[in-house]
Amino acid sequence: MPSVIVHYQEIALKGRNRPWFVERLVTNVRTAMAGVDGVKVRALMGRIELQHASDGDWPEVRERLSRMPGIANFLRAVPAACDFDAIADTVLAELDGVEADSFRVTARRADKRFPLTSPQIERNLGGRIKAAKGWRVDLDRPALTVRVEVLADRAFCCLRKEPGAGGLPSGASGRVACLLSGGIDSPVAAWRMIKRGCRVRLVHFHSYPILSRTSQDKVAEIAALLTRRQLQSRLYVVAFGEIQRRVVLAVPPPLRVVVYRRLMLRIAERIARTSGSAALVTGEAVGQVASQTLDNMAVIDAAASLPVLRPLVGMDKDEIVNEARRLGTYEVSIIPDEDCCTLFTPKHPATRATVRQLDEAETALPVDALVEEAAGAAERLDLRFPPAADARA
Ligand code: ATP
Ligand code: MG
Repeated sequence: MPSVIVHYQEIALKGRNRPWFVERLVTNVRTAMAGVDGVKVRALMGRIELQHASDGDWPEVRERLSRMPGIANFLRAVPAACDFDAIADTVLAELDGVEADSFRVTARRADKRFPLTSPQIERNLGGRIKAAKGWRVDLDRPALTVRVEVLADRAFCCLRKEPGAGGLPSGASGRVACLLSGGIDSPVAAWRMIKRGCRVRLVHFHSYPILSRTSQDKVAEIAALLTRRQLQSRLYVVAFGEIQRRVVLAVPPPLRVVVYRRLMLRIAERIARTSGSAALVTGEAVGQVASQTLDNMAVIDAAASLPVLRPLVGMDKDEIVNEARRLGTYEVSIIPDEDCCTLFTPKHPATRATVRQLDEAETALPVDALVEEAAGAAERLDLRFPPAADARA
């Protein structure tokens, strides 16, 4: 039965909370593997062991693990008895047909009762491999690293280390609500918070039927991609077109974008409070567009009482784009779409709005009633990964 050894790193540092973090990660891995044949997941001496029945499922298992926050790396592992000769035989069998001109052995001994120390395992096993394959030992830049992990009742032999997403297990850090447009930035902002262990609720504002349904379709697709990582999402879809119409009638053009943002934030905050979220998240970055100056951010913040987190605040656009590509959201984000905030928006929005200006402009609007009505009418969609149809297990 193939095994996979999953390593966590950061959660190993969490002191007395560590068992709780590990349990969280074990539960998440179990959830993510639903539908994989014969899957078993358990915590095992500072790592997690995952077993599954069929080799054919490995690409799917790898794909699912690589997306999850809280995993430093993982390795496909062949178990061997806790005995040096058994380990060496297993490794040599695994190396059958493998070509490499240089190699090294890295051993970790989690159970100190094993008679050889890690350096001794490395030296002795290195000698065997060298004799059998004729490869050169290269400790610094080996073409192949053979990894051996010795636990209490078994050892594991591994050839390839797969990178994990890093961060903390989903659900370990509380809940936040992210304002998710169909653009490039906000999905990356949501991912940053997912990666820090937050469960991220998603709030989208659309202007249907004034504009097309495209933004809603894009956001549904982006939400599904994020759900593959955080395993459960809740998407709130808020009708914003009528509010924009009211803003246009009441607010001078240069202030409109900031008013839209402040209203979005207030509505998102109302939703956040009912869903137990402790902070709001946006995809803003300093100076990226005229509406994202430091002055405007301060004015936007003043509309909310929950903290507004901006995980991308110091990033360049190309850094964000690269991350969106890795995340898989980029292709969806670039589908042409009319942004609901460019609707009724002047060419030159105020870049240095003040709270006083905004408060004054907003007296022309029934802000509380608009916020309450929009939040109350929000549509709610719960998403899970794997989707129910796949979750046979
Ligand atoms: P993005 O690529 O995330 O849309 P952007 O660079 O286009 O960002 P803006 O349109 O100014 O920037 O939006 C700034 C932030 O406000 C977004 O990152 C997002 O968090 C929020 N936001 C903007 N429009 C919407 C919307 N229609 N629904 C939800 N949130 C939105
Ligand atoms: Mg946008």
